[in-house]
Amino acid sequence: MITTPLDTLEEVEKIINDKALPFDVAIIGGGPAGLTAGVYCARSGMRALLVERALLGGQVSLCSSIENYPGFPSGIAGVELAGRFEDQARKFGVEIVWGDVQKIEIEGGLKKISLIDSYYSAKTLIIATGTEPKKIGIPGESEFRGRGVSYCATCDGAFYKDKEIAVIGGGNSAISEALFLTKFASKVTVIHRRDAFRADKILSDRAISDPRIEIMWDTVPESINGSDGVESITVKNVKTSKKQDIPVDGVFIYIGESPNTSLFKDLLKLSQDGSIIVDDRMRTSAEGVFAAGDVCHKNFRQIATAVGDGAIAADSSRKYLENML
Ligand code: NAP
Repeated sequence: MITTPLDTLEEVEKIINDKALPFDVAIIGGGPAGLTAGVYCARSGMRALLVERALLGGQVSLCSSIENYPGFPSGIAGVELAGRFEDQARKFGVEIVWGDVQKIEIEGGLKKISLIDSYYSAKTLIIATGTEPKKIGIPGESEFRGRGVSYCATCDGAFYKDKEIAVIGGGNSAISEALFLTKFASKVTVIHRRDAFRADKILSDRAISDPRIEIMWDTVPESINGSDGVESITVKNVKTSKKQDIPVDGVFIYIGESPNTSLFKDLLKLSQDGSIIVDDRMRTSAEGVFAAGDVCHKNFRQIATAVGDGAIAADSSRKYLENML
């Protein structure tokens, strides 16, 4: 790394003062919504901070392939798309820091963000904390997590080369990841509680016609069994009540997402499912606090809708600072 010696004491003081100044906007969460908000804020001249606790790109980084984000007609790996979002945000000067936010306080016009060992303040806040995979709550799920139970095919799929696995769920995540898992597994059994998938037709048709995928309709999992690792899953047909044990080496669970809003439950108005209620300008119930992406109460959670939310939240945040909102 090349370093330039600081010329004057004034220069040192300026850096210290700049650090102490509140950011124009603090964005919590570095998925598509947060990174897009960062790009728009930074490009409009705002001093933007983005705090991410784990992986830039969020859940997108864990998607094996994305086929419905415009601009990539042949599809793009989630991790590559996430990398592009990150490059763009950095290019325009978004300051990205890693840390687990412990507390958010609103004092007067300032939003105070406490991490484990650091602290930031900002004039506006954009919450883009996304969602996390829902747990199914059956015996064996937590016991075998990381030893055969997974919520991420991209991370763990390769461990199941020539093995048999089960995927639970019937939404877009379950079906697209079941298709991805056929690259490794000798057989993928999709266990779905109804007789039709919630997933888009194009994905559903692909899974139904894939000879490596067996679909158990009207079936719910009852327990995941094994000793050192997963050896089988016990399932029940909800129409006949017939139970059976299916031998599998791994179980991938994709039954939906829960919003990451525990930090905000005393600060903001949340919906019954715990997501943040926003208006069409992505305003939350608190002054100068906006939300974007999957964490919001909405009907359609997609990368395309998350980036749209991020752009609107950034625009609202800027207009709020300029007293135009
Ligand atoms: P989702 O769309 O909510 O689907 C959840 C699936 O799990 C549903 O099939 C549901 O069954 C089933 N399920 C829920 N609770 C269950 C339980 N307790 N036991 C058994 N099955 C249960 O969730 P998702 O697939 O994770 O997707 C989340 C959001 O991201 C969606 O908006 C989705 O469209 C989006 N997404 C989009 C793409 C894409 O466009 N390529 C890819 C991934 C995700 P029911 O159908 O019977 O309710």
